[in-house]
Amino acid sequence: MLLYQFGYVGLDVNYKTAQQQSDDKVRTIASMRRTADVVIVGGGIVGASIAYHLTRKGMRDVIVVERDRLGAGSTGKNAGGIRLQFSSEINVRLSQHALPRIERFAEEIGADPHFHQVGYLFLITDEQDVGPFERSLELWKRLDVPARRIDAAGAHELFPSARTDDVRFATFCAKDGYADPSSMLAGYVARAREGGVQFVEHTAVTKVMCEKSRVVGVRAGDDEIAAPAVVDAAGPWAAEVAKLADIDLPIQPLRRHIFVTEIVPGLDREFPLTIEFATGLYAHRESGGVLLGMADPNEKPAFDDSVNWDFMPTVVERALARFPILERTSIKTGWAGLYEDTPDKHPILGPVDGVDGFICAAGFSGHGIMHAPVTGALIADLIADGRTSFDISALRASRFREGQLVPEHNVI
Ligand SMILES: Cc1cc2nc3c(=O)[nH]c(=O)nc-3n(C[C@H](O)[C@H](O)[C@H](O)COP(=O)(O)OP(=O)(O)OC[C@H]3O[C@@H](n4cnc5c(N)ncnc54)[C@H](O)[C@@H]3O)c2cc1C
Repeated sequence: MLLYQFGYVGLDVNYKTAQQQSDDKVRTIASMRRTADVVIVGGGIVGASIAYHLTRKGMRDVIVVERDRLGAGSTGKNAGGIRLQFSSEINVRLSQHALPRIERFAEEIGADPHFHQVGYLFLITDEQDVGPFERSLELWKRLDVPARRIDAAGAHELFPSARTDDVRFATFCAKDGYADPSSMLAGYVARAREGGVQFVEHTAVTKVMCEKSRVVGVRAGDDEIAAPAVVDAAGPWAAEVAKLADIDLPIQPLRRHIFVTEIVPGLDREFPLTIEFATGLYAHRESGGVLLGMADPNEKPAFDDSVNWDFMPTVVERALARFPILERTSIKTGWAGLYEDTPDKHPILGPVDGVDGFICAAGFSGHGIMHAPVTGALIADLIADGRTSFDISALRASRFREGQLVPEHNVI
């Protein structure tokens, strides 16, 4: 039996004592610039990637305002999964543009993203998922995604510790894997700082100032920063930030849990990030143990990221059924974070009608780590050049009003 041991271990990007944080606060507010070309609200991986990519475009007068510490939001609380295997063309394209950037992250950014390119293995057990995955396989063939259909025996070969006798078929893409978001964030922040970006921590943006339907700046803490462009990269809080400019965005916070086991005797090989698609249970290797995640179907949108320990036995039960080898270990720790959920599980990227200069980069619905590298490049292109290197109009904010949603089936 898995034994339960309660505790919380978040992924601290730059852990500091309360006194150090307070000193930082005094220092950052006192020295904050009062004008900028771009203010980015949110110091998670998306805000940091945008800041870095703006410097690559020659824009140095950029301020990132973070109300907590960098990485305190979802960026410090996720599974780090990176994959090409989506069901919508635009999500596949985002991943296809993001993946090479992650593969050469160390070279470009000078920080090791700890990318374990072990592949993603989707186990399809329910009849209702057969059709959608068959269609995904066709899409992947058309878009040159090197994912393949494999039978239950093939899936077992890839991960012998997973039960596969009930698997109808599986899909596998060797280019997928998982990385360390904290290292990626730290890399983007370091390079952006070198490029001239100012990161202001422990300071909330409380107002987006507009004149004649145009952004003119923000109120940050006790100060105002004049700026012609404001990027909303506030993750699960993006709708709240948009409200500061009287904009309605359909982005909701949705709690998701992760539990990590102690070392698992006998499980010494790497294995693909494996997903039991019917329940959304997923597992990947983590510090010698296994990281487990699963969505609670009863979860309602809310800003609650406390751990619901009553949900853990449900996850453990499913995990033991799918990965019986976990009988040999116990749960070491667990935490919860927030997805930034949109009605069609796709991000909102780009300007928002009605308020010039307000740009949204949020709503990744559980895919913001893997899509942060391309999002940074796209938003920087948009701000610096007024256009993007490929068409992202499907992700415009107005699609909800127009009824032009983009469905995504492969969400976990
Ligand atoms: C359990 C779990 C598992 C996940 N697994 C994966 C995965 O495998 N792969 C993947 O790609 N994604 C995954 N995600 C999603 C991923 O974590 C997010 O999409 C990503 O972190 C979003 O980054 P961000 O920078 O947009 O948001 P965040 O990291 O949340 O950053 C937003 C920041 O904005 C700040 N902020 C909010 N309001 C204000 C304000 N008014 N003023 C100033 N600052 C403000 C917040 O403090 C926060 O730090 C997972 C998420 C969870 C919860």
